[in-house]
Amino acid sequence: MQTATTVSDLRRHVDAWRAAGERIGFVPTMGFLHAGHVSLMQRARQECDVVVASIFVNPTQFGPNEDFDRYPRDDAGDRATCEAAGVDVLFIPTASAMYPDSPSVFVIVEGISDILEGAVRPGHYRGVATVVTKLFHLVKPHKAFFGQKDYQQCSVIKRMVKGLDMDVDVVVLPTVRERDGLAMSSRNSYLSTDERHTAAAIYRALSAAEQLAKTGTRQPEALKNKIQAVVREEKGIEIDYLEIADPESLAPLASAQDGMVLLIAVRIGRTRLIDNLVIQR
Ligand code: AMP
Repeated sequence: MQTATTVSDLRRHVDAWRAAGERIGFVPTMGFLHAGHVSLMQRARQECDVVVASIFVNPTQFGPNEDFDRYPRDDAGDRATCEAAGVDVLFIPTASAMYPDSPSVFVIVEGISDILEGAVRPGHYRGVATVVTKLFHLVKPHKAFFGQKDYQQCSVIKRMVKGLDMDVDVVVLPTVRERDGLAMSSRNSYLSTDERHTAAAIYRALSAAEQLAKTGTRQPEALKNKIQAVVREEKGIEIDYLEIADPESLAPLASAQDGMVLLIAVRIGRTRLIDNLVIQR
């Protein structure tokens, strides 16, 4: 595996691959890698000739009071993980390599960026869309791999790719979970032992709603009540938002619909966690 830290390092690889007709797969991440990230890298390895992963904790997607400064990092461990997953080039730019000038050009995906996560984290999806656009321009991937764990992020990126005619296939892969169902996340490392135990309630609640839907109770209000009831059984966890939404527009649903998605964000102590579940027919 090779490491590129500057834009020109990366471009050298990309230009050679493109000239040779190689199909480029790309997995953008913020590092502190876990099995969820690895699942994306392994799929890229299967579907593409060459694989680029990036690790960049992108300042423009963090609000002033968020966790940018304390976001977990493990460069040595991440390198080993990427190498083992079959990554060809790991791109780890500095903030000044990505943003040599103070950022003044942004990509905004309207309609979907200011609801749910976007309402709680103003400017977050502007930062995400901007950095993913920049990374797509640098890596020139044929396919880019994202996790359903960040459902709204996937929606923003798919809409951005379509709206700006970007020539890249967006592949969304299932959420990888811990044994008790907690969605793997770099931010899980913030949790104390007690909080980690509490966090299992998120998936327990989503699964309880899924079970209810399977037995025929599919009204959004009933499913939300179920989720709230299960979460309330645990102490030290607060629901930030809970919505049952259209899978494409993410507009809240008043009545049941095929493929509706349950989206939840919670706070446990100082940590914010998100998760989601698609309710199939
Ligand atoms: P992050 O490093 O958190 O920005 O995530 C990088 C990519 O990995 C994004 O596409 C995430 O959706 C994806 N990802 C994060 N957690 C998981 C997970 N538990 N399962 C699958 N994909 C994930």
